[in-house]
Amino acid sequence: MVSKPKLQCSLCNERLAEGEDIEEHLLNEHEPRELASEIAAEWEAEEFAGTE
Ligand SMILES: [Zn+2]
Repeated sequence: MVSKPKLQCSLCNERLAEGEDIEEHLLNEHEPRELASEIAAEWEAEEFAGTE
């Protein structure tokens, strides 16, 4: 048996239940606007990390 790593939502830091789909969680628990700003923040963080 392969044990999958526990997924954690980066928006609310909630651990997803076994077998729960991250996509389902995002769609059910979060607004598209929330998701967009989270993704934008991640991209910005990556850009800053790349420049030294
Ligand atoms: Zn969440």
